[in-house]
Amino acid sequence: MNPEVLLSRIRVVLCRPSHPGNIGAVARAMKTMGLSNLYLVSPKQFPDPEADTRATGAVDLLQRAKVTNSLADALAGSTYAVALSARQRDLGPVIGQPRETVARLLAEAEFAEVALVFGNETVGLTNEEILHCQAAVTIPTNPEFSSLNLGSAVQVLCHECRMAAFSGKPPAAAQGVTPFISPAATQDEVEGLIGHMESVMTETGFFNPAQPGRLMPKLRRLFGRARLEQDEVNILRGILASTQVKTGHGRKG
Ligand code: SAH
Repeated sequence: MNPEVLLSRIRVVLCRPSHPGNIGAVARAMKTMGLSNLYLVSPKQFPDPEADTRATGAVDLLQRAKVTNSLADALAGSTYAVALSARQRDLGPVIGQPRETVARLLAEAEFAEVALVFGNETVGLTNEEILHCQAAVTIPTNPEFSSLNLGSAVQVLCHECRMAAFSGKPPAAAQGVTPFISPAATQDEVEGLIGHMESVMTETGFFNPAQPGRLMPKLRRLFGRARLEQDEVNILRGILASTQVKTGHGRKG
C-alpha cells in the first residue's frame, strides 16, 4: 500500500494533555513525519495561541484536530490501539519494543484506522485508558531518566512509523497478521460487546457492580488479545441476547 495512505490511517491520541504548548509540538512532530490525524481527549486548554506558536507550520493539524470526552470516542471506528507507557501496568498489554509494535500497527493499518495513545504529562495513562489498547510500548531510555517530553515521545513513534511505512517491506507479511475472514471489529463494536456482557452478567448475578473486582479489566484484556472479527462480535452478542430472552430481560443495547 502507498506509504502516505498508511500514515494517514494512524491517529495520534493525546489523553488529557495539560499544556497547550505540547499539543502544538505534537502537531509539528506528526506533520514532519507525514501523520495528520490528531485526537485530543479532554484537553485542559485548547485551542490556544501557545499551541499554534509551537506548531509553527502544522497549525492545519490543530485546526482539524478532533476533541473528544473519552478515549473510547477517540478510538471509535479504529481497530487497533497502542498505548505509550514508560512502565508495565497491572493487567495491561505486555510492553513491546517500538519497532516491532509499529510494524504490527502498520500491518493493521492496511485494513483499517489505528491509533497511538499517549498519556498526560504528569500522570501518564490511567490503567483504564491502557485497557482500551491492544498493545503497549516503552521507548527504551536511560533507566535513571526514562520520561520523555510528550512531543518528543510522539516524535520518536512517528519517526518509527515513517521508517516502517517507507521501508518497502509489505507490513502484513512482516508481522504475520492473518487476513480477516470478516473485517476486524472496530473498537466501538468491541466496547458494545463488553457493555452487553456486563449487563447480562449483572442480570444473571455473575457480576456484582458493587463489588466489581478485576472481572471487567480481565475480560477487556482477553478481548484485546483475541483481536475479534465483526462476525465473532455478532455471534457473541447473539448468544448474550439469547440468554436475555430466557431470563426475561429482552434485547439490550
Ligand atoms: N510521568 C508520566 C510520564 C508522562 S510523559 C508517567 O510516569 O507515566 C507523557 C507521555 O509521554 C506518557 O504518558 C507516554 O505516553 C509518553 N512517554 C514519555 N516517555 C515515554 C517512554 N519512555 N516510553 C513510552 N512512552 C513515553
